[in-house]
Amino acid sequence: MTELRLILGDQLNPKHSWFARQRDDVVYLLLELRQETGYVLHHAQKLLAVLAAMRDFARWLKAEGHRVRYVTIDHPSNRGALEDNLDALLQHYQASAFLWQLPDEWRLDQQLHAWAARQAIPCQAVDSEHFYTHRHDAGQLFAGKAQWRMEIFYRQMRKQYSVLLDDGGKPAGGKWNFDQDNRKAWRGAPPPPPDTRPSHDHRQLWQTLQDAGISSFGQPCAEALRWPLNRAEALHQLHDFIRQALPHFGDYQDAMHTDEPRLFHSLLSFALNTKMLSPREVVTAAEQAWLAGAAPLAAVEGFIRQILGWREYVRGVYWARMPDYAHSNVFQHHRPLPGWFWHGHTGMRCLAHAVGQSLRDAYAHHIQRLMVIGNFSLLAGLSPQALHEWYLGVYIDAFEWVELPNTLGMSQFADGGLLASKPYVSGHAYLHRMSNYCGGCRYRREARHGEDACPFNALYWDFFRRQRARLGDNPRLGLIYKQLDQMSNTELTALRDSAERILQGLETL
Ligand SMILES: Cc1cc2nc3c(=O)[nH]c(=O)nc-3n(C[C@H](O)[C@H](O)[C@H](O)COP(=O)(O)OP(=O)(O)OC[C@H]3O[C@@H](n4cnc5c(N)ncnc54)[C@H](O)[C@@H]3O)c2cc1C
Ligand code: SF4
Repeated sequence: MTELRLILGDQLNPKHSWFARQRDDVVYLLLELRQETGYVLHHAQKLLAVLAAMRDFARWLKAEGHRVRYVTIDHPSNRGALEDNLDALLQHYQASAFLWQLPDEWRLDQQLHAWAARQAIPCQAVDSEHFYTHRHDAGQLFAGKAQWRMEIFYRQMRKQYSVLLDDGGKPAGGKWNFDQDNRKAWRGAPPPPPDTRPSHDHRQLWQTLQDAGISSFGQPCAEALRWPLNRAEALHQLHDFIRQALPHFGDYQDAMHTDEPRLFHSLLSFALNTKMLSPREVVTAAEQAWLAGAAPLAAVEGFIRQILGWREYVRGVYWARMPDYAHSNVFQHHRPLPGWFWHGHTGMRCLAHAVGQSLRDAYAHHIQRLMVIGNFSLLAGLSPQALHEWYLGVYIDAFEWVELPNTLGMSQFADGGLLASKPYVSGHAYLHRMSNYCGGCRYRREARHGEDACPFNALYWDFFRRQRARLGDNPRLGLIYKQLDQMSNTELTALRDSAERILQGLETL
């Protein structure tokens, strides 16, 4: 009697109750699948990091005395597709039962349920024991509501899990949200903490991927891959972040700088999304730092909101709205991504930097993703689905349940405002205030039109002009429409002509 238990590449959670007890009648399956390396074009570091972390996890399981069947990408027995591999393994072990942890991606969830329904042996899905919430909790909270405000969800989570509350159950510091305090630009000080992440040599694995013909983009950095690949390394990263960066996280959360890709961000998303770390332990560690007086409340609240709030909330949106959500495109934007998304060579310094850094590091922090790349993409009317594929491929932490709502909902407003109360767009002013990008840019940041005017400016006004029917009565955009209404016809025509010229020449910006 052998029970097979499947572990997916983003289910590397050594604390799962499966592993509390060694059982001779259980075999754990870890499969390097071509369907996973190929469902979108991935950044090379993402492929390397996921496979290397899976291999590390399998070694750990074996060292703990568990039975493991690990099928590498180049093993002759590997059949590529999930179902074909499972069929063969079921047969090989004459399995009496099959268990899997609930996947976080709709695609894999469907696939596993469909496959399991065809089997003669008992098959069962179990919880991945990672998130605070169940898949459908947010959907139930917002049932019947046209807008799903994260803030409502977040306050409920704070209360439910007693996070940052005072003795009377009120929010610590008298406010639920310290966002207003968290908007400083970074001008060279304080110094960001050193990058203490480990450096792994995965040249051999990279060669294996090359030999197997796996396609990718971005820089592999296989000789010095700098992502935590197991729980011990992830915990190390967490503790270093709490000690060195968290105290400044809030202040500089939205800041961007050409010399400092990370500033005071945690770089924990890969470890969290592969479940090496649990969100609870990250939130607890941050709260403890505040209680111990090691980090200010505004920083700790800002950080906890990302994990207890945004991360759980976007997952709820995903499960409530898939599969239709993936096709959202309320503005009917269909322009393809310009070629510089794949090489980063554009004269717009902000985009050259944010895209270039993403290709080099498989990482950009939230505001680079939202207010540089996403902002431009929405203003330029790029296809949200093409953009979704790019985001899903390029970032080390990109898994569809978290990437898709962030891209289509928060960044592109493609869901018509389910997730965001207004589009996150700006002209040059926000970018100039929060970054050092504009200095040295070939475009004149304050110019609205003309050959060398910052493209964000004309595109910004033209976007709101174009979308008046859909956005004109949004109370949060009243000021913008008032400003548009006060512009002369000559100005409006000049803006429209400039926007048109920019859109015609996206490749050469
Ligand atoms: C267009 C777009 C696409 C994104 N795609 C992804 C993605 O594929 N995977 C992903 O994990 N995050 C995604 N995010 C959210 C966020 O940008 C990243 O989580 C963050 O940049 C990761 O870096 P960090 O670990 O240094 O985060 P920090 O800034 O240190 O934040 C701490 C943690 O909070 C969580 N978090 C922060 N913001 C969000 C958010 N908006 N949604 C969910 N969790 C959040 C992450 O787990 C992160 O590790 C996306 C955001 C945008 C605007
Ligand atoms: S001037 Fe415009 S294009 Fe150049 S960096 Fe600033 S915002 Fe970006």
